[in-house]
Amino acid sequence: MLSGPREVMARRPWRLSAKLLIISSVVTVIGFSAICVNVMLDMRHGEEALARQTLENLATTIESDVSRNIEIYDLALKAVASNMLLPEIATVSKPIRHLILFDHATTARHFGAIQVFDAEGRLTIDASTLDPMPANRSEEEYFKNHRDNPGAGLFISRPMLFRGAYSIVLSRRISDTDGGFLGVVAGSIRFSYFHELFERLNLDADDTITVLRRDRTIMMRRPFDLEVIGTNLSDRRTWNADNLRVGASYAGQGPIDPTPRLYVRSTGSGPLFVVAGKPLNAVFELWQREAYRIGAVVLALNLFMLASTLVLAREIGRRAEAERKLEEMATTDALTGLKNRRKFDQMIDVEWRRAMRQKTPIALLMIDADHFKAYNDTFGHQAGDQVLVGIAICISDSVSRAGDCAARYGGEEFAVLLPGTSVTDAFKVAEKIRTKVQGWSDDQTSSTVSCGIASLVPTTGMDWPLLVAAADKALYAAKAGGRNQSVVASLPTLSLAA
Ligand code: GH3
Ligand code: MG
Ligand code: MG
Repeated sequence: MLSGPREVMARRPWRLSAKLLIISSVVTVIGFSAICVNVMLDMRHGEEALARQTLENLATTIESDVSRNIEIYDLALKAVASNMLLPEIATVSKPIRHLILFDHATTARHFGAIQVFDAEGRLTIDASTLDPMPANRSEEEYFKNHRDNPGAGLFISRPMLFRGAYSIVLSRRISDTDGGFLGVVAGSIRFSYFHELFERLNLDADDTITVLRRDRTIMMRRPFDLEVIGTNLSDRRTWNADNLRVGASYAGQGPIDPTPRLYVRSTGSGPLFVVAGKPLNAVFELWQREAYRIGAVVLALNLFMLASTLVLAREIGRRAEAERKLEEMATTDALTGLKNRRKFDQMIDVEWRRAMRQKTPIALLMIDADHFKAYNDTFGHQAGDQVLVGIAICISDSVSRAGDCAARYGGEEFAVLLPGTSVTDAFKVAEKIRTKVQGWSDDQTSSTVSCGIASLVPTTGMDWPLLVAAADKALYAAKAGGRNQSVVASLPTLSLAA
């Protein structure tokens, strides 16, 4: 069936509304997902900031405990170094000398006994005994350091075995009043101090605590591993000055083991500093669980929304299609498939006004089957119907322009509206239809049609029934003229379009 551009236009809005529905739901889904991702990332940053703060507090607490103990011990070393200069020291008895040199702080559980070495490295005084065994430490790093470097101050050694226990040796130079080297006073902090300190803390198995000297030598680490103690990290890529600054954090592989952790360093300024680490999967464990949960819910909601949108869009399409079919049924003649009278009246009204606006001709053919009553009477009503269908096909085949309208006007009468067609062209169409019907029916029993043609350019004051009446009149003229012919209406009072 032919359909004009207006009909096509009228059929499209549903596509537009379905598209709008899909677009708005996709935009909603994208917007909703973006908000969710944003919230999740914020939550992740929050978790990280919290972990960083906790680790920084932990590292700083450990550092201040270590610094305080070193300071206490250093005070004792300083006292020994200055008291050694007292002239009486050489003359008093050994027990009195012990009382003068060593206070009780140095006998605390994790501190090794303080020892004094002379300028050659020989052990001269030992806080733990009045008669120390002979020993020489002139080859030790701390001894050489003090001997060669008068300004060394407190020297903290690399971890070492000192008097049978793993310890860090703290030492100070003993100088005479002119700065001359008189020897070294040394003491130690045992690893047991760190072990006890770490045990007091509530740490997870994979958390790490690393105590480092300022030159990045590992003094102690939890989990404890002798292999790692004493390692210098100054040439390692991780934990350098850049990626482990004070107040910042470093997330990734550390220098010791491959587990990715969040590492934060202490903020104090003592001789040692502390780096606390927590595995990243522990830091983000809660967040990850929450992210999966929210992600799954959002995904399900999004899928549901998209699915229901698609279903809705399809439903809109289906309804629109059903409406279109209903509309088509309401405007189509059931027997012939041509437009019905109702539709024809609408079309001629629209086209008439358009032709009036545009000052273009509008043509109408009125076609009537010849002697149809007799045909019906001879061959029966059903055969008559078949002839009507055949005539309709001949008409459809001859009318092909957009805007043309072929309709069953009533009974065995047809009307063809040809907008923008002159009377000459309309006559050609009529003849085409007539000869087609004649040719088609030749094979069967001869059926013919008569055709009345009218075409005019409508002007103000005219109405379309005028055109119908003119075509009808021409049709009667064709019948009167012997049928099976086309006759053009004579409209002497009207402006005929030729
Ligand atoms: P004329 O050449 O003067 O037009 O003669 P006619 O017999 O065609 O004219 P008339 O108006 O007297 O008869 C029309 C006949 O068309 C009457 C009716 O039986 C037949 N007819 C009308 N509608 C239908 C239809 O839907 N089916 C069939 N089979 N016949 C129809
Ligand atoms: Mg008739
Ligand atoms: Mg007839």
